[in-house]
Amino acid sequence: MHVAIINIGSLLSGDWREPFIDANTVVTDGGLISWIGTSGGVAEEFDYCDVVIDAAGATVAPGLIDSHVHVAFGDFTPRQNTVGYLESYLHGGTTTALSAGEVHIPGRPHDLAGVKALAVAAHKCYENFRPGGMRVHAGSLLLEPGLEPDDFAAVRADGVWLCKAGFGDVEGAKDYVELVAMAKEAGLVTTLHTGGCSIPGTFPVTGEDVLDINPDISFHINGGPVAIEDRYYDMIAKTEIGMQVCAAGNLRTGILAAEAAHRHDAFDRLLIGTDTPTGSGIMPLGMLYTIVHMAAVSDLDVAHLIGAATGNVARMFGLNNGMISAGRDADLIVIDAPLGGTKDTALDAMKNGDMIAVGAVITDGVPRFVGRSRNTPPTTRPITVSRSSVLREF
Ligand SMILES: [Zn+2]
Repeated sequence: MHVAIINIGSLLSGDWREPFIDANTVVTDGGLISWIGTSGGVAEEFDYCDVVIDAAGATVAPGLIDSHVHVAFGDFTPRQNTVGYLESYLHGGTTTALSAGEVHIPGRPHDLAGVKALAVAAHKCYENFRPGGMRVHAGSLLLEPGLEPDDFAAVRADGVWLCKAGFGDVEGAKDYVELVAMAKEAGLVTTLHTGGCSIPGTFPVTGEDVLDINPDISFHINGGPVAIEDRYYDMIAKTEIGMQVCAAGNLRTGILAAEAAHRHDAFDRLLIGTDTPTGSGIMPLGMLYTIVHMAAVSDLDVAHLIGAATGNVARMFGLNNGMISAGRDADLIVIDAPLGGTKDTALDAMKNGDMIAVGAVITDGVPRFVGRSRNTPPTTRPITVSRSSVLREF
């Protein structure tokens, strides 16, 4: 299937260093972006396309990548006993979810056979299941004492590439040093719970622990939901560790982390996620709210923060989406100033502190909805399907 989005007012690249692309049209072919350029803005130019979407001057960005979602199986979260939440996230502009560990599975096993089987099963299930069209990378191996290099190699051979330190039966944070090193050696992307305890029965991970354990990514570096000492943000920014700011964390320290990242030329490693569903709830607009809140009460640039929710995540996790260029995955969102607001564009509205409108979402080259999200305010501009030869309503 070919899809064209025409009359784009502002096109965001996903790369915070060069956030804007000078073009008004994006064409997809199958699951990939095939052409970006400037067109006359009429549907007739794109006869070969199955669907032509008129963005009417709105903004197009890569779909947001939530790098901290506690998926379980299917589109169901046992933590809040809710179904359909991932499809709801897609209506908030999140087109990819990365598992932060399937920790909410009722009766979750802690023995080695159990943790390995759980990661492999979750990984393989979501390879065959896209809730609402969302891409889910699941199966994050939960680090438990006793895991050996052969165990990491075995799950890696079965496709698992994520792992999570936190919530295991280890005695304390120091026990993660060796486990994380072994996981890295096996080629897994290692992630670490950071900050105070999120639930009873766990232990805090301090800023010093983060430096000692040296994971690929410090999860919810701003607290999940309780933050580390302020002085560690500059210290961690000077390492190679990814710095993930989460919605279900501390807004003040999230801004500290982003500012420290800029100070130490580490903004490539700043990531935005939600850390939901958790005790903090289910947040379909969590990615957008985090960008809006951080931008509205600081000097941080909205386009940079969108890069932290798209291109930066793709870079740190080795994904083919998150940026708009030919050959990248066709995961795109059309966003706009919300109807009735005081600003004219999506980015100005976000800087103003307003929730924006999501007007269309395309994942894997397939339009999932066009015109209105079920979760955001309506768009100011009419986002419409100009022409479609597909027997399906959007
Ligand atoms: Zn989490």
